[in-house]
Order: sequence, then C-alpha cells, then structure tokens
Amino acid sequence: MKLSLVVPCYNEEQNVSLFYEKVKEDFSKVKFDYEIVFINDGSSDNTIDELKKLCKDKKKKIKVIDFSRNFGKEAAMYAGLKNASGDYVTIIDADLQQDPKLVLDMVKFLDENDDYDCVAAYQEERIEGKVLSFFKNSFYKLINKMSDTTFVRGASDFRTCRRRMVEAIISMEEYFRFSKGIFAWVGFKTYFIPYVAHERASGSSSWSFWKLFKYAIDGIIAFSTVPLRISTIVGLLSSVLSIIYLIVVIVQKLVFSIAIPGYATIVVLILLLGGLQLFSLGILGEYVARTYVETKKRPIYIAKEIISYEK
Ligand code: UDP
Ligand code: MG
Repeated sequence: MKLSLVVPCYNEEQNVSLFYEKVKEDFSKVKFDYEIVFINDGSSDNTIDELKKLCKDKKKKIKVIDFSRNFGKEAAMYAGLKNASGDYVTIIDADLQQDPKLVLDMVKFLDENDDYDCVAAYQEERIEGKVLSFFKNSFYKLINKMSDTTFVRGASDFRTCRRRMVEAIISMEEYFRFSKGIFAWVGFKTYFIPYVAHERASGSSSWSFWKLFKYAIDGIIAFSTVPLRISTIVGLLSSVLSIIYLIVVIVQKLVFSIAIPGYATIVVLILLLGGLQLFSLGILGEYVARTYVETKKRPIYIAKEIISYEK
C-alpha cells in the first residue's frame, strides 16, 4: 500500500460522500494503491451510516473506525495514523476545505525528494477577523519563546508523512495531544507548501474562540514548563520589592519621622499578593491535573467498531 488518507469526521454527514467522490475523481489517474481511513469521532448525526454506505463500494479500499463517543480531532488523527498501512500517510479534513488534489503534489514531492519525510500545507492567507489573527500571532510568538520546539504559524494538520515519521508520531502516546507540537517535536525534514483553504462544503466549523483559547493553553502546557517558572520569578521580584519598600519605610519613620499611613497600602498589597499566589497556584494546578490524567494511562480513544476492507 502506497498511500493512506486519514480523514477525521465529526458531524460530516453531508460531506463524507462528497469528499469520497472528489477523491475518486482526483485520484482516477493515479497508478498507485491507496486506502481511505475514515474516523467517525462520535458524530451525533448520521455520519456513520453515510460511511457504512461508502464501504459497500468494494472496488475501493475503505476503513472506518467508529469511536464510542467524541474524543476530539487529535484522538481521531491518532487512531487514523495507527490504523493506516500506507508507506505515506496523509491527514486531511472531511469538509473539503483542503483539496485532495494537493495530496498528489505531496506524494510526488516525497517520491522525488528522499531527504524529506513530510510535506505540510500551510495557509498563507487566512480569511479571518483581525482580532483572531492578532491572538493567533501572539500565541505563536509566545509559544516559540517558551518552548524549544519550533511552531510554524499557519501550518495545518493537512500533511503527508513517510512511514518512519508516522511511527515516530504514534510512539508518542500522551493523552493531551497537541499535534502541531508533536509534528515538530519528532523532527524529520518537513517541506511546507502554501494552500488556500476553501469554504466548508457543508456544516460549520467546530472551533469557537473559547475552544481555540483552551487549545492554545493545552499547547503551551504540553510543550513548555516556562509558566511554572513564572511564580518563582514573580515571587522573587515581589520579595525584592518588599525589602526595598521595608527599608524606605524604616528610613521614613526613623530619619524623617513621617507618620506612615498604612491602610491603603496594606489592602492593595494583600490583594496583589493574594492574586499572584492564586495565579501561580492555578498554573501549578494545570500541570498537576495533566500529570494526574496522564498517570492514569487511559486510552487515547475507544473504537466501538472497526470496519475494514478485504485484503
Ligand atoms: N473533527 C473531528 N473531531 C472533532 C472536531 C472536528 O474529527 O471533535 C474533524 C472534522 O470533521 C473535520 C476536521 O476535524 O474533518 C476539522 O474540523 P473543522 O472543520 O471543524 O475545523 P477547521 O477546518 O475550522 O479548522
Ligand atoms: Mg474545516
């Protein structure tokens, strides 16, 4: 098997057959063997029935992994990579925002360039609001400062990897998966090609601002321990400042005999330090909570059923 397409699907009943037809059309001329691995990520609509319909097409190699509930796109991608058997594996969305035609370019590139192990598509221009764009820029600046892993802005999960890179990715069995970081962390030479995302064929994106924000926090915590150091630094700074202030107060009192009006200062300091303490406790808590969940070693996904083609 030369190529596997890994396609996470969450509430994509309108899109899966469109996607499938598009792949069939774009791949009609290829000479190599390929399979499509669909993951139904606990959709609440009829995605699974649509996928089962596709499986009836015995001429094509289709695998369906049906999750017992919604585990998220990260888990779906992991399941797909685990169950893909191609020498090259492509991760692509089911909503036709990413053009299957581009996969052919990716495959061609890997065929011609032995020294590269991955071709990733990135969006040069995104049609999105200024506010969102600002937050995304800040996120990339922040995480690249905090982490040893380099994060490329605009790089998507839409990529084709060679088998050895796929093996490296599935060897990372962490529960809190942040694929942008995982792809970079495993190393391997990656080539970036620009692409323009199309409008969603049908349905709506499952990403809200809040979900993106939480995802960003997850990314920072998964790939950096710098936030843990913030409390050390802030603690040190406030200790130094309070010692300076102490000296000032003593000098004021003893040398200049100035009466020290304390009420406001005390209230402000109590609130400030209390806030800082809670904040750093919170950061600590984020890491402890993740450690707690990771130590349980729960599976990343649970498949209710795996439908495979006959070999
Ligand atoms: N997806 C998934 N599980 C989820 C959310 C999304 O498998 O919990 C899939 C979804 O079906 C689609 C892909 O991940 O194929 C990208 O999702 P979406 O289009 O919502 O994200 P966007 O394109 O806006 O980044
Ligand atoms: Mg999409």
